Parts: sequence; structure tokens; C-alpha cells
Amino acid sequence: EKRKLWRLRFVAAVTRDGTPVDLLANIELPQEVERAKEHGATGIGLFRSEFLFLNRDDLPDEEEQFEAYSTVIKGMNGSPVIIRTFDLGADKNLRSAYRMAPNPALGLRAIRMSLAEPGMFLAQLRAILRASSLGHTQILIPMLSSSREVDQTLQMIEFAKQSLRDENKPFNETIKIGCMVEIPATALSLELFMRKLDFLSIGTNDLIQYTLAIDRTDETVAHLFDPLHPAILRLLARIIQSATKAGIPVSICGEMAGDAKYTRLLLGMGLRQFSMYPTQLLTVKREVLDSSLPDISRLIQKILKADEPEKIHDLLQKLNS
Ligand code: PEP
Ligand code: MG
Repeated sequence: EKRKLWRLRFVAAVTRDGTPVDLLANIELPQEVERAKEHGATGIGLFRSEFLFLNRDDLPDEEEQFEAYSTVIKGMNGSPVIIRTFDLGADKNLRSAYRMAPNPALGLRAIRMSLAEPGMFLAQLRAILRASSLGHTQILIPMLSSSREVDQTLQMIEFAKQSLRDENKPFNETIKIGCMVEIPATALSLELFMRKLDFLSIGTNDLIQYTLAIDRTDETVAHLFDPLHPAILRLLARIIQSATKAGIPVSICGEMAGDAKYTRLLLGMGLRQFSMYPTQLLTVKREVLDSSLPDISRLIQKILKADEPEKIHDLLQKLNS
């Protein structure tokens, strides 16, 4: 069984009716590139760069970051690498700083912290931009929720670019900038983000946390963390459809993307790009190869109309059989 799955490594991910699907890898450290390639990833859909920061007291400087990003980009041989800027705060803390936030998940986290620490942010942006001259690189911003934050972020990126131009350091001038869709406010005002940015990546881990008011790190409410809640399904369908209609690339990089029981559901909603832990890639690919999109669209419509959990589970089972 395992050997059979392993043979799918270099088989293209295409549904039975011929629709190609992009299966990318999530990584946390540069060393994981090899495993991603081994499992047939066609790119890195999410490099959680904050892991360069964890379990240490000092911050990696621009040079150290440049090395780390270069390793990933060179390792992927021209395949796309999406580097997410630091998502620090909340569950991913620096050892020393910012420990005392009264409510870390709603506090100075991710892009909010980066904008509050412009020196740190600038060093990271310069490191990513410099590495972008070595291969196909994109920048992903976590936790964006307002127009003002988008503008400030784009200004910082432009500032970083200008500083490199002044020093004659090469970088990709037309590098694509995207945002995580992981806050309900972002999902519900998506046009704003699509106007100013190049691509979207849905973070279901946080989108579920913030939509259902379930702390993703609190075990006492873990049983309520429900990807199949009708509110989540409708939000996801809406994001994917709006982006597709606008011609903006959209992926899911939260855990949902790596769970084969949701593969058909997400394909049916129109998702064509999934990013997940490398070890999930082949199981999801097998599901893609087994799926036929024309056969599932009616069931998807039914699932999106349903609101009783039993009904949704029954329909999902039907979809997957
Ligand atoms: C997410 O929120 O779904 C996500 C991919 O980001 P992280 O899990 O790193 O918050
Ligand atoms: Mg997140």
C-alpha cells in the first residue's frame, strides 16, 4: 500500500476529467526542502519563516536570513517558493519578547508585529528580495485585515526595494505579493485585498479559530474546532469563488488542505492549489487522481446549503465514496 503510494511521486496531479491541480509543500526550516521534493511537491506553498526565530534569544540578521531563503530557493530549482513573513506572537513566541500579551491571538501578532518593528521587518524584506534573484520567489503576508495595513506593508516593501537599488543589489523587481486570508474580516472584504495584491492563501487554522471563537491552542475546546461548520464551508466557497472569478490565484495552506477527507470538497468548491506538510502530499494526490469534478458539483451545492452537522457528514461521506 505504502509502496503504491510512493509510485505517485512523479505522477502529475490531474483529476479524472483532466483538471490539473497544484500540490505544494509547507515547510518550517530550510532542511525540509529535500523531503518536500521527495514527496513530489511542485513548489513550496508556505515557508513559515518565523521558525528561524524560535528557541533563540537573538534575531537572525539579514545575512543569516538571506542564507536560509537562498538555500530553499536554490534547492527548489526554479519551482515557486512562497516565503511568508514572520508570524510571530500568539502561539509562536520569541523566547524573551512579547510573552505578556493579555490575549496573544488577538494581539500584536504577525504583520501587526512586523509593522511595529520596522527594523526587523526591513531586514527580512531585504533578505527575501535579495534571495528572489536566485529563483521563483513570492512574498506572503500573514494576518492582514485592513486596507491601511496593506498600504503600510506595500510601502515597506517599496522602501526595501529602493534601498537595494541604491546599493546595486539584484532582486526581482516584479516579485508577487500575496496575503493570508485567515481573519473573517479579510474574507468578507476580499475585493479590497484582491485589488492591491497578487495572490491569496487561505489559512484555515486561524480562519476557523477566529470565525468560531475557538482558541486553536486550547485543548478544552479542541472538540469544537470544526472545519465542517456551515459558516466555515460557506466562507471558504465564497473566498475561492471570488478569487477565481477575479483571476487571482488562491490556495489553502492550513491543515484542511492536507487532509484527504476534504480534498474532493475543496476541489468541488473550485480550489486548484493545495499546500500541506510533505508527508500528506501523496495521499492527497491519490484522492485528486480518483476524483471526477463533473460528478461532484451537485453534491457540493447540497453541502453548502445544509446546516445540520449530521446532514453535512452524510453528504461528505457520499462525496468521498
Ligand atoms: C493557518 O492559519 O491556517 C496557517 C497556515 O498558518 P499558521 O498555522 O502558521 O498560523
Ligand atoms: Mg495562520
